[in-house]
Amino acid sequence: MFVDLAKITIKAGDGGDGAVAFHREKYVAAGGPDGGDGGKGGDVIFVADDGLSTLIDFRYKRKYVAGRGENGRGNSCFGKKGKDLFIKVPRGTIVKDSKTGSIMADISSNKKFVIARGGRGGWGNKHFATPTRQVPRFAKPGVLGEEFEVVLELKLLADVGLVGFPNVGKSTLISVISSAKPKIANYHFTTLSPVLGVVKVDSGKSFVVADIPGLIEGASAGAGLGHGFLRHVDRCRLIVHIVDVSGSEGRDPKNDIDIINKELARFNASLSKRRQIVVANKCDISTKDQIEDFKRYVQKCGFSFCEISAATGSGVEFLVNVISKNLDELPPIKEYVPNYLPENKNLERKFSIQVKNGVYYVDAPWLENVLRGVNFEDHESLQYLHRVICNSGINAELERMGICQGDSVNLQGFEFEFIH
Ligand code: GDP
Ligand code: MG
Repeated sequence: MFVDLAKITIKAGDGGDGAVAFHREKYVAAGGPDGGDGGKGGDVIFVADDGLSTLIDFRYKRKYVAGRGENGRGNSCFGKKGKDLFIKVPRGTIVKDSKTGSIMADISSNKKFVIARGGRGGWGNKHFATPTRQVPRFAKPGVLGEEFEVVLELKLLADVGLVGFPNVGKSTLISVISSAKPKIANYHFTTLSPVLGVVKVDSGKSFVVADIPGLIEGASAGAGLGHGFLRHVDRCRLIVHIVDVSGSEGRDPKNDIDIINKELARFNASLSKRRQIVVANKCDISTKDQIEDFKRYVQKCGFSFCEISAATGSGVEFLVNVISKNLDELPPIKEYVPNYLPENKNLERKFSIQVKNGVYYVDAPWLENVLRGVNFEDHESLQYLHRVICNSGINAELERMGICQGDSVNLQGFEFEFIH
């Protein structure tokens, strides 16, 4: 089955926690703090794999998690870095943030795309030793790894998109000009998924053609195979529009091009500006008049025109050369530029407070990481928490809301008594 759309969750590894430890050695009375740092969490990295042609694997496995960083240990031992997770996708897969729909990456090149970053490891307590604080009983927890729900959308990388009504001879043409072997039969929707073929030109050049199945009137509204496959025309540099000029199915070929072009434009207006060659196929069973009449119409519309018979092979070599010449003049295959803006949860210390049954609930997701690092048994550590709460404006807001000494405050699940 050809799958070109999937939704998955990716989670980078959390950073390991820093250690609280003190040096122990025979005959050394009070060793200093020597808790090592936690290791960084593993990243989630996307790479293109030319062995893959569909996103079907992502229908079955939905969650992908990179390794957690190891915690730091005593004796200044650092935690090991978490294992990166590599996710292989077909070349041409676009990764989008499912919440905003913005593009995070276009996996078209051979680069490694880090999509979710592992959290930093927390500092061990030895970082917190100062001349006045010789026994730091706290360390920093690792930062949580990034987590996203992403939509994967495959947009095939092809120079040429073959479009046209069902049964006009698209699959026949691609099987003649390339080594691709799609199903060919005299009924509609034989081809149920796009087929890619590499076409070698005499001059030693080559280009990639995609047979886009299932376009009929109303496709953009879901008729036939729907417009799902039109996404694969999006990147094509050139549209080759195949028409059955013999009218063997009772349609007027002139109407055919209007209908298909309307569908393309309805799906994406920029497709009407894409360069297009109209190919009159099945010339072997057409009359001269049919071909001439159609040619005049195509030229009036401003498209280039070629006549072939995919079945007998006549005109096909000429067409391949025309396509190749056109491609020489056109810009390279479009790559999508990421437009995803990361939410900066940690920089902007936003919060909201609600009172329920006399308890002040503070919702401030960024506080979670701070709280994880607090040693509630340790005075200095609690002072640090207090400073963060004051600096962020939470304290002032609680007082403005009329909080009294001894009232309960719930900070992200931790309950405290309010003290002025
Ligand atoms: P697609 O649906 O556009 O991919 O069309 P196919 O390539 O599957 O062809 C549909 C039917 O038209 C098949 O029976 C082909 O053999 C036939 N056909 C394709 N090209 C030609 C041609 O140039 N001449 C004739 N007479 N038949 C053709
Ligand atoms: Mg076909």
